[in-house]
Amino acid sequence: MRIHSYHRLYKQRLLCSTRSFKARGSKVNRCQFCQVEQNLCLCPYQPEVDANIAIILLLSSNEVFKPSNTGRLILDTIKEGYAYQWSRTDPDKQMLELMNNPQYQPIVVFPKENVESKCRILDLNNAWLNHGKKPLLIFLDGSWREARRMFRKSPYLDSLPVLSISPQSLSQYVMRRSDNSQHLATAEVASIVFSQLGEKLAAQTLSLWFDVFKETYLMSKSQSKSDIQRPKLQHYLNRENPS
Ligand SMILES: [Zn+2]
Repeated sequence: MRIHSYHRLYKQRLLCSTRSFKARGSKVNRCQFCQVEQNLCLCPYQPEVDANIAIILLLSSNEVFKPSNTGRLILDTIKEGYAYQWSRTDPDKQMLELMNNPQYQPIVVFPKENVESKCRILDLNNAWLNHGKKPLLIFLDGSWREARRMFRKSPYLDSLPVLSISPQSLSQYVMRRSDNSQHLATAEVASIVFSQLGEKLAAQTLSLWFDVFKETYLMSKSQSKSDIQRPKLQHYLNRENPS
């Protein structure tokens, strides 16, 4: 299992916090890496996809401590991923360097309805991806209210292009799901965006991995789980690489 930037941020925040953050579901004895109950630990199954994208996960205040967080699953899936604590006034220096590195094209993932200057919105039909830079996708991870605040109050994001989920890919995705809710978890947004960028293997792997996490997370909550089959995990383990 690969220890990644999210795990390191989690550990660092734990060491620095003066009082423990009591997230919902904190009574469960969790694996500190995959955040499900220890005897259901998913760490041995962690995926790893070698995609031509890099990820920055920008986390709101106590998001890193929430066992239900799904941004972590993106960093499980994509090899090159970085997690940072959001700050309005004191952004992480390493993160700024990364955003300014000419090898990358930083792109904020955010709904275009909430972007004031429409010229920032990327049109994937344009040949913007062909200039040889690696897309560095920035996900704002927190509640919707927090994500909006992060988007508006981060001067270092102001000049960056914005990529949104197209209504078409959203409806395709929602149709495939059983619960039909329009509210998407961060990992689901990422999966759709990967697909839009042509990273099909990353999109599919993350989507399956999200299902596995959701299934196991719910099992961690329930009392009687000894004989549950874990169909999502089986499906994930039997996956074939799409060509
Ligand atoms: Zn684990």
